[in-house]
This record gives sequence, C-alpha cells and structure tokens, in this order.
Amino acid sequence: MKAMLTIRPNCENCDKDLPYDSTEAMICTYECTFCQQCVETTLKNVCPNCGGGFTPRPIRPQVQLMKHPASTERIRKPVSITDHQKLLTRYENILPENR
Ligand SMILES: [Zn+2]
Ligand SMILES: [Zn+2]
Repeated sequence: MKAMLTIRPNCENCDKDLPYDSTEAMICTYECTFCQQCVETTLKNVCPNCGGGFTPRPIRPQVQLMKHPASTERIRKPVSITDHQKLLTRYENILPENR
C-alpha cells in the first residue's frame, strides 16, 4: 500500500473538527494538523512539533475515501505558549524553505 495522508479529524491545539473536506485544515510535513486560525494566530506558521511551516491539506475525493477512509483518532496536544515562544524566537522570521 502506498503511503498516504492519515487525514486527522481535529485541530491538535483547539480541537476544532476538521473533516476530510475541510478547507481550513493545515498540515506540516509530518502531518501535524491544525486549523487555519491556530496556524495564523497562535502558531504563526511554525509547527510546535517540528518547527516547519504549514500548507493547506489536500482534499481526498469521495470515491478514494471509500477505499482509504480518513482517520477518526483525535490527537489533542494544546500548544504551550511559553514553549512555542522559544520556537518563534528562532523561526518566526525565517521562511519555512530557509529553516
Ligand atoms: Zn485550532
Ligand atoms: Zn510538524
């Protein structure tokens, strides 16, 4: 089987629902998944787990979902603002392609 996105069902930080067809779901290279609002306001495009940037999660067509359904396992790891500030100090002003 090919490697594929898990399509996580929620935002790791605020727990907002992010169904497979959400246009607000953002992922990093490791598929850490957050809502667009958290990425823009709290995270400032710095992934708290890996330091990378985010991109909108592609939407899997419904016919493909029948073969490869989205994950139902909710991952919840609210961001520590003090810890994230350290990452921001290091990465906030560096474009993801230069980190
Ligand atoms: Zn969120
Ligand atoms: Zn990440």
